[in-house]
Amino acid sequence: MMAMESMIGKGAPEALEVTEAARETSWRYPSLVGELFMGRLRKDLVSPYPEQDPEDRQRGDAFLEKLRLFSREHIDPDAIDESGILPQAVLDGLVKLGCFGMKIPQSYGGLGFSQTNYNRAIQLLGSYCGATTVWLSAHQSIGAPQPLMLFGTEEQKKRYLPSLAKGMISAFALTERDVGSDPANMKTTATPIEDGKAYLLSGEKLWCTNGPVAQIIVVMARTPSVVVRGRERKQITAFIVERSWPGIESVHRCDFMGLKGIQNGVLRFTNVRVPKENILWGTGLGLKLALITLNAGRMAIPAACVGAAKRCLEITRKWALERKQWGGPIGRHEAIGVKIGEMAATVFAMDAMVGLTSALVDRKTIDIRLEAALSKLFCAENSWRIIDETMQIRGGRGYETAASLRARQEDSYPVERMMRDSRINRIIEGTSEIMHLFIAREALDAHMQLVQSLLDSHQSLPKKLTASLKAAGHYALWYPRQWIGVSWYPHDSAMGPLSGHMRFVERASHRLARALFHSAVRYQTRLALRQQRLGRLVDVGADLFAMLSACSKATALVRLQPSEQSPVELADLFCRLARRRITQTMHSLSDNEDQRCYQTAQQVLANRYAWLEQGVL
Ligand SMILES: Cc1cc2nc3c(=O)[nH]c(=O)nc-3n(C[C@H](O)[C@H](O)[C@H](O)COP(=O)(O)OP(=O)(O)OC[C@H]3O[C@@H](n4cnc5c(N)ncnc54)[C@H](O)[C@@H]3O)c2cc1C
Repeated sequence: MMAMESMIGKGAPEALEVTEAARETSWRYPSLVGELFMGRLRKDLVSPYPEQDPEDRQRGDAFLEKLRLFSREHIDPDAIDESGILPQAVLDGLVKLGCFGMKIPQSYGGLGFSQTNYNRAIQLLGSYCGATTVWLSAHQSIGAPQPLMLFGTEEQKKRYLPSLAKGMISAFALTERDVGSDPANMKTTATPIEDGKAYLLSGEKLWCTNGPVAQIIVVMARTPSVVVRGRERKQITAFIVERSWPGIESVHRCDFMGLKGIQNGVLRFTNVRVPKENILWGTGLGLKLALITLNAGRMAIPAACVGAAKRCLEITRKWALERKQWGGPIGRHEAIGVKIGEMAATVFAMDAMVGLTSALVDRKTIDIRLEAALSKLFCAENSWRIIDETMQIRGGRGYETAASLRARQEDSYPVERMMRDSRINRIIEGTSEIMHLFIAREALDAHMQLVQSLLDSHQSLPKKLTASLKAAGHYALWYPRQWIGVSWYPHDSAMGPLSGHMRFVERASHRLARALFHSAVRYQTRLALRQQRLGRLVDVGADLFAMLSACSKATALVRLQPSEQSPVELADLFCRLARRRITQTMHSLSDNEDQRCYQTAQQVLANRYAWLEQGVL
């Protein structure tokens, strides 16, 4: 059997080293999901479900109403899709509403929204027009405002944030032709000149959203390597680059299957002089900056996914009742009904997860890197399934464009456009495969920190001995606890009818923690190569987090309005479905065809099945 280790190429150790060096290593604040992976439930972080501060909610409500009116009146998503152009009047209107400064603090001229209000706005737009949503989120979730707010000097913030809030568009340029998920091979360079007073930036950036129209671009580039312990360490640095500087060209506007109205392109930098004052955070910290920016920045994607999924539920509900085939509405036929039930339960869980994570971001004392990553993974994957099922339920009309439906005087539900627009969510800001690896790495961090010295061949014997004593002490207490089924959710707990699901989450979190621990012990430094195993464990973590979010939100809603039990019904259904998935996934950790599939894949790559490709044009 071919070893699965060979799935990583020769350059992988360096790539992993560069990414590892860029990780945020400290956990200054508690992490709900981090604890969950360690077999501990932080009840206080989940229940009661965080209620939005009334004043903050009021501000959000007033803004959303204006945004809703403006969108209905001035944004025509189908026209944007057909023409590939976001009209200037729409841009001007969005600027006037303050949409480009939603996340920028009021002291710098922005609206200073909480993450919750920002996500509510993104959800609203995400349900309506994917392209418009991306213009705004590329600008402030990953574009210049976010890294500036996190890492900019006061001088940099004062210089750029007020204009960015007023609609000076920004972009984030990391990806290159050979640099997608793996940043180690970055070719764009920034060479120090004038005794280090400035840098010359040269290279080409690919798929830069907002790039062709951006006036401010955050560019990641290689600066000279440094030598650490006798070894070369590559340095990636982030620069704030102004479009007006000589040497910047937009050489191609990219066209995609969806999101036709976005401006995305290839940017070429030829000896662009960048003053050293425009370095963000510090030399060599660019990749770390990019990863930290994405931690909270990637929350916009799940929020937009929730918007799209809610819209699908609405379309499905109307159509499944209106469309009659074989003697009744299609929603009454079992095959369609089951899809709709699962859709409603999943939309509820997605909404609850994004709401909970946003509230945790707003508390500012919780480490949300795992919650945000799980929300992105869970919502991107599930919204895609929901849109696919909506298309199925709409039948031929799902496949037909809105313009064609309109021309035939039918309801022009834009399912075809939504499908094209949403597919990218499983790819950008971390592909689902990379999100699995990222989440697994972070989830394992508590174990890694304990055993790192033991695995490090450079460590001295006394240090290793101290580390092994510390690890032994920890695991002597921690490990037995993962087998003892203590439940903090008794039968009559605050979660009422959902408390059984909470007990399941607690037991399953112990099982998950044990499985992670056993995997780490069994595979040690090679665990990173067991991608399918790690992916399955992460999927279990995602379902557990979704169950927690759904149960907590349903309990809070029912407490507010006891006569309305429907949230509990949806949370209960979601949990039942998730429990089945979790049981199956845990089982497939030891019973799967991964090795055989992998082996077959290598044969495919070696063209052993060339005959199978015959008979095509
Ligand atoms: C519409 C659009 C907008 C974008 N906007 C921006 C932007 O504003 N700024 C920016 O910098 N970039 C942007 N990107 C780039 C985007 O972030 C990348 O496409 C993404 O990071 C994936 O990189 P890649 O496409 O090169 O895929 P690759 O890294 O080449 O991956 C290809 C496939 O291999 C898998 N894979 C790769 N490595 C591994 C591994 N180690 N283990 C298992 N599987 C692996 C991936 O999951 C994927 O399925 C955009 C892209 C698009 C299409």
